[in-house]
Amino acid sequence: MPIRTVTVYAASSQALDSAYIDAAARLGTALGRTGYRLVYGGGGHGLMGAMADAALAAGSEVHGIIPEFLTRVEQGHQHLTSLEVVPDMRTRKARMLEDSDAVIALPGGCGTFEELFEAMTLKRLGQFLGPIVLINTAGYYDRLLDFLHHSVSEHFMNQTHLDMWQTVAEPEQAAKALEQTHRWSAQSALASAAVQKRS
Ligand code: AMP
Repeated sequence: MPIRTVTVYAASSQALDSAYIDAAARLGTALGRTGYRLVYGGGGHGLMGAMADAALAAGSEVHGIIPEFLTRVEQGHQHLTSLEVVPDMRTRKARMLEDSDAVIALPGGCGTFEELFEAMTLKRLGQFLGPIVLINTAGYYDRLLDFLHHSVSEHFMNQTHLDMWQTVAEPEQAAKALEQTHRWSAQSALASAAVQKRS
């Protein structure tokens, strides 16, 4: 199945080192040039804003999804192709994945972790089958990746689960990683979820 819509999770923080902001903008440019339709959290600040601005400038269609309460504290990005206001965070998280063919996580905090881990959990259970790519700017995700390996070595996940995500150092490598990821099988995901036993 060709990848058309890509969901991007990314930090809201505005206090980040310029290396992270630069990488987010480069990701937006690279994805925009590839012609993907992008879905993201709808924020105008932080890595979200940098990614969305660059993607729009590169010609992408960018759809933001923002919960109503957040529009009262921040406006959300005002120049998107479309901005969808949803009742709450849970609806937003579900909507962000609903029509998505693939997921990319830029560096982020607990909001990004939650979204990323939901995508991984759904993939583990065969409910989301698309590629998941982490943009590991400045090795930001190294310790998280170490912990995921620790989780496998302690049998909380199995070796095949390490294939659920790919990691790239540079944002320009993301599109290739998305396109080269082999399709995840819902059947084998469910089968391996059912037989997570000590060997
Ligand atoms: P965090 O990494 O904790 O900054 O959370 C960022 C992620 O959570 C994004 O991918 C958004 O979907 C969502 N999010 C958290 N805070 C905001 C915000 N202020 N505006 C829009 N989306 C947000």
